[in-house]
Amino acid sequence: MSFASDVKNEICKTAIEEICCARAELAGIVCFSAQTPGGGLRINTEHHAVAERVCALAKRLYHLSLDVTARESGIYTIRADGAEVIKILRDMRLAGVPLRIDKSVTRSGCCKRAFMRGAFLGGGSVSAPRKGYHLELVTGHYALCGDFAAVLEYFGIAPKIIHRKGNYVFYIKDSAQIEDFLAALGAHTQMMAFLNVKIEKEVRNVTNRRVNCENANAEKCAGAAVAQIFAIQAIDKKIGLEHLPPPLEAIARARLDDPEASLADLARALGISKSGANHRMRKITLLGKEPG
Ligand SMILES: [Zn+2]
Repeated sequence: MSFASDVKNEICKTAIEEICCARAELAGIVCFSAQTPGGGLRINTEHHAVAERVCALAKRLYHLSLDVTARESGIYTIRADGAEVIKILRDMRLAGVPLRIDKSVTRSGCCKRAFMRGAFLGGGSVSAPRKGYHLELVTGHYALCGDFAAVLEYFGIAPKIIHRKGNYVFYIKDSAQIEDFLAALGAHTQMMAFLNVKIEKEVRNVTNRRVNCENANAEKCAGAAVAQIFAIQAIDKKIGLEHLPPPLEAIARARLDDPEASLADLARALGISKSGANHRMRKITLLGKEPG
């Protein structure tokens, strides 16, 4: 099951406590997914839990038993007709054209949250955090974009809005904002799951960066050691290592004995400072380059 489905399933388990919130949630679903062909009301969803949620909300609010049909394509259609539609839309203050979110429907914080839940259930999706950070909500109603942006602003969420194929898309790519959004929806379990994956990814990135850095340093060290060994071999051929001043001979032999040792390792083995070892090794490299 997708991450978006997990979020929707979690939201659908939220208790429907206050009537005001039930109304705001259903209004969110209608604004983000309903169609009104010929005066009827049709809500399409691919989530069984969402279809059940719409029916539960309509039952709670209007004592209506709405008709649900499941199609072979996996889409559930919830339908209301005639007087039912008028009753629902009037109560949610959605009877006007163009469609706007009435302030009375989202007056309190609890109702703003509920409206967001409905909007997400109706037109929302969110990528699995492993794949990337992207949450979006799609609506066909331009007029309500500003109203919905104001609801999100209440929770400190500032999405971008674009026009795509005749629809308006609110999207968020910032992971912290997606966390805020999921928390505002009340999808706490999925928010934690999201956060865990994000932390795992960040730890992995830091570790990879460190390993890359260490590898680069090791290569640099190995390159230097190879150059030193060539220089030592050249000196040995020209004059013989035994004719070097004893401090230089000591470090040259130590390097030949241990080609993988770092300069600090060599310094330690010889009981000298690192800068002393560095100084001696520079001399050896220079001597090695002198024509014989
Ligand atoms: Zn409320």
